[in-house]
Amino acid sequence: MRLLILGAGPAGLAVAERLRELERLAGAGASACDIEMVSDEDHPPYSPPALADHFLTGRESTLFWKGRDALERLGVTHRRGQAVRAVHPGERRVTLADGTSLAYDSLVIATGSRLYAPLPGADLPGLCNFKSLTAARALVERVRRGEARRALVVGAGFIGVEVALVLRALGLAVTLVERDWVMSSTLEPETADLVRAALCARGIRVLDGQAAAAFEGAGHVEAVRLATGEPLTADLYGALMLKGADVRAYGMRLLDPGFGAGSMAFEALRGRGA
Ligand SMILES: Cc1cc2nc3c(=O)[nH]c(=O)nc-3n(C[C@H](O)[C@H](O)[C@H](O)COP(=O)(O)OP(=O)(O)OC[C@H]3O[C@@H](n4cnc5c(N)ncnc54)[C@H](O)[C@@H]3O)c2cc1C
Repeated sequence: MRLLILGAGPAGLAVAERLRELERLAGAGASACDIEMVSDEDHPPYSPPALADHFLTGRESTLFWKGRDALERLGVTHRRGQAVRAVHPGERRVTLADGTSLAYDSLVIATGSRLYAPLPGADLPGLCNFKSLTAARALVERVRRGEARRALVVGAGFIGVEVALVLRALGLAVTLVERDWVMSSTLEPETADLVRAALCARGIRVLDGQAAAAFEGAGHVEAVRLATGEPLTADLYGALMLKGADVRAYGMRLLDPGFGAGSMAFEALRGRGA
């Protein structure tokens, strides 16, 4: 059997590991499945929760938590840096961005989610995020090249807080804008006050209870407009509104509406389809 896994994140890796484990339990007579994995990033599987630690300490052992050679050890062929553009379920194949067609017997879509900023101007060039190793590296390299001294982070969920702390540790003046209270989806206001105090103690300016209404700029992001009408400016803007992260099947087209009806993957693809 030929299994194709789209996405080399923790979920995609877990599928490959579990399958190999089941093959081992089935005994030596069982035929090994041919597994191929496709990811649009050019990295071995990594752990996003370890990104902040990696950029502050340079440590790789927690980032590549299963080892850089995890897929080789599992006998998985990894196509790196290749985005999947279309799934053709009727023909059991996918098309990559470069036009390559890959056939499969079974398909796993493990393409994760993306941060979602439901504000006007959120598609302006120059808006940063910390969702992937590629995006986080680009952001940190800008800071290390001295291209930014002031950062404005919109969204104080746990990732927004983490990014604010990383940027502050890298020496930037950081403002964190939050509509509700800090980490409001996970913490009660009383506990959140402790986090807020810790952020302020590190020199982070916390504007909670302040809704951002839009990202603005001519050709690239130049300001955040608050709902009060006040504009805030910085050298670097981050949108980290995790609440509402959507399933990241965007950019892929589903070419057979009968595919997997009722499954999450189908709903996600249909919701953002061609
Ligand atoms: C900064 C940060 C900190 C976090 N901290 C925590 C934490 O402390 N605790 C916790 O539980 N969770 C945390 N999370 C969330 C956690 O990382 C995710 O829940 C987890 O990574 C989801 O795994 P996944 O494999 O489903 O998706 P992902 O890790 O998003 O992997 C999806 C993969 O698919 C690839 N891909 C997407 N689209 C395509 C395409 N069209 N073609 C080819 N490849 C594609 C992506 O490049 C990626 O390699 C954090 C996330 C971030 C960003």
